[in-house]
Amino acid sequence: MRYVLTMLLALLMCQPMVLCAQGKWMLSDVEGVEYVKLSDVWRFYRFTPKTGRPGCVSYGSGKHVVSLKEGQQDFYVNNYRYVLSHPVREVGGELMISSVDMRKLVDPVLRPRFSPQNRLRTVVLDPGHGGHDAGAVSAYAKEKDLNLAVARKLGRMLENQGYRVVMTRDGDYFLTLQQRVAIANSVPDSVFVSIHHNSGRRAASGIETFTLAPQGTTSPFARSHRFDELAGNNQDSENIALATAVHSRAILGSGAVDRGIQRARFSVLCTIKRPAILFEGGFVSNPEECRKMATSSYQNMLAHSICQGIVAYNNTVCKPTRKVASATSEAGRVRTSISGARVGSSSRKK
Ligand SMILES: [Zn+2]
Repeated sequence: MRYVLTMLLALLMCQPMVLCAQGKWMLSDVEGVEYVKLSDVWRFYRFTPKTGRPGCVSYGSGKHVVSLKEGQQDFYVNNYRYVLSHPVREVGGELMISSVDMRKLVDPVLRPRFSPQNRLRTVVLDPGHGGHDAGAVSAYAKEKDLNLAVARKLGRMLENQGYRVVMTRDGDYFLTLQQRVAIANSVPDSVFVSIHHNSGRRAASGIETFTLAPQGTTSPFARSHRFDELAGNNQDSENIALATAVHSRAILGSGAVDRGIQRARFSVLCTIKRPAILFEGGFVSNPEECRKMATSSYQNMLAHSICQGIVAYNNTVCKPTRKVASATSEAGRVRTSISGARVGSSSRKK
């Protein structure tokens, strides 16, 4: 059992109401999805109303401010954007959040736990595409080249920090997704960071980070919603912690539009046995953004931000030494936030 809420909500699956230290948690079925009242959630975390994002309901404590809106899947923690698996709902005048989002996103982000994983020694870097597969292409750059350039710079920075780096490819050649996953799964005590750049409408811009959709949830990119496509993996908590650590620092470092931490069942994320993210560093299809992305200075900044995120993830979440364990306020809990510091409201647009 990884979370307090896992046990709590597992119990809730069997009975409509249980008692916890802070009060009653009621599960409600909203169109086939289990939801909990946000008033119970605020009470559980001892959150009080805060000034947050305009138009949103915001609650928080000294360390975190969260903002959300009825009918939407956007969920902000310290102004970093996450995309919920299910929208926030209002039922009988009460705002509700799905129990799977509580267990797999909200709680591991607000109260990260130490991973059972040993301290990281190795980082597997996966520059997307290569060879005949150029990925997104514009007049300014090919995605495969941007991915490799950022990965190489990041690899050197991680080595300078004492990490071993394994590149799934270190040249302009093609690898299948299965070959990339096989390399990642052969390396113990590692994380997997797949580096891509995006394509979309000409005006689309910004950074987004994907982690595997948790078990039982659908992915916005799934071709069908068959149950066998709803499997997750055992690293949900580590996946979201790694995504938070890397994404928050990349947004802070770049000032780019925050497109959020999102869920997907991309092939490369589905069968990975290590904590894994797929990072999208900006839009090749946006001429202004791509011009920047093609510069060495922008690539250095991105690589540096991702490196800081990986180091922060390792230092705060991976298996604690005695010294780290004694610094927790609650057994197994990480005391510090895993996102780059930024509490409170921001005028930055989504
Ligand atoms: Zn790509």
